Amino acid sequence: MSVLVLVEHTDGNIKKKSFEAVQYAAEIAKQTNTTATALVLGTIADNELESLGNYGAQKVLHVADDRLNDLHARAYVSALIAAAQKEGSKIIVMLHDINGKAVAPRVAIKLKAGMVAGALSYPDLAKGFVIKKAVYSGKAFAFVNITSDVKVITVMANSFPLVQGDGKAAVEKLNVTFGDKDFGIKVKEVNKVTGEVSLADAELVVSGGRGMKGPENWGLIEDLAKELGAATACSRPVADAGWRPHHEHVGQTGGTIRPNLYIAVGISGAIQHLAGVNGSKVIVVINKDPEAPFFKAANYGVVGDALEILPRLTEAVKKF
Ligand code: FAD
Repeated sequence: MSVLVLVEHTDGNIKKKSFEAVQYAAEIAKQTNTTATALVLGTIADNELESLGNYGAQKVLHVADDRLNDLHARAYVSALIAAAQKEGSKIIVMLHDINGKAVAPRVAIKLKAGMVAGALSYPDLAKGFVIKKAVYSGKAFAFVNITSDVKVITVMANSFPLVQGDGKAAVEKLNVTFGDKDFGIKVKEVNKVTGEVSLADAELVVSGGRGMKGPENWGLIEDLAKELGAATACSRPVADAGWRPHHEHVGQTGGTIRPNLYIAVGISGAIQHLAGVNGSKVIVVINKDPEAPFFKAANYGVVGDALEILPRLTEAVKKF
């Protein structure tokens, strides 16, 4: 028996957040006295696969079919079920991202499994199999006990600090017989990057709202982001007004990010915006209104005019 974890990669490079999922699975394996097996789909080099041992995977099953380089949800489900059967896996872990959201519920239905989407904690085995997750757009937490025999978990990225070891996983090829319909619908991942850093993977984010007054001032956001090596983001009205592209919009109807640092400039802090960013480790708010709701969610706050503060902040960062 083994805890099975689906690992994602882009063009053969394993995504950093997948290491977190592997570490998560390995920790459960440790607690339940089993092993962790990673499942990797598509074209990828063996040394990249072996490196999953650094995060606790003892074994890697590799389905080397290049059609799996893009998300084909049905094919992914077939591969996961084949791998789970081979390994006798009762616990299946994935990331809580576009792939995990498309695949995990289908796997759960097929295997009659209970599921937690967006795990923020390891299971509390003393209480059953209780996992913490956010509900109501991050306003509250739920503690969900999975009581079914088979369990499916999607893990919220950037929730578990990575600790790199020096293990080496054993790689084994897995042949899966796919059905005609498995490749019917393909979802191509297009990672749009406006600045130099992709928002989805960014550890630092500088984000602007309507308080920036207009697109002509966005150079100030970009300058600070560049100095910090951060990605840029924005509130929804900013994207709606066409000041910034829509893929930068974060919140309830936009992207959900969990960077280590989120700098919100001229953003009021409406609940719909917070829903996408309140998992950030540290939040810094720059707003001219001391009563702006965002200050309640902030670790650090600066009250003042963003157009004056941003250049000074960028200069200060340059000196470091
Ligand atoms: P505003 O609310 O106009 O706030 C501007 C802020 O800038 C103010 O706090 C002001 O004090 C400050 N400011 C002004 N001038 C300066 C200056 N010179 N220096 C510093 N500060 C200054 N919003 C999202 O962001 N993401 C979503 O996903 C989202 N989804 C939504 C879904 C629904 C169903 C609904 C109803 C709304 C949604 N919204 C979303 C909109 C949300 O409710 C807010 O209207 C929006 O977040 C406000 O954007 P803002 O803070 O940029 O603008």
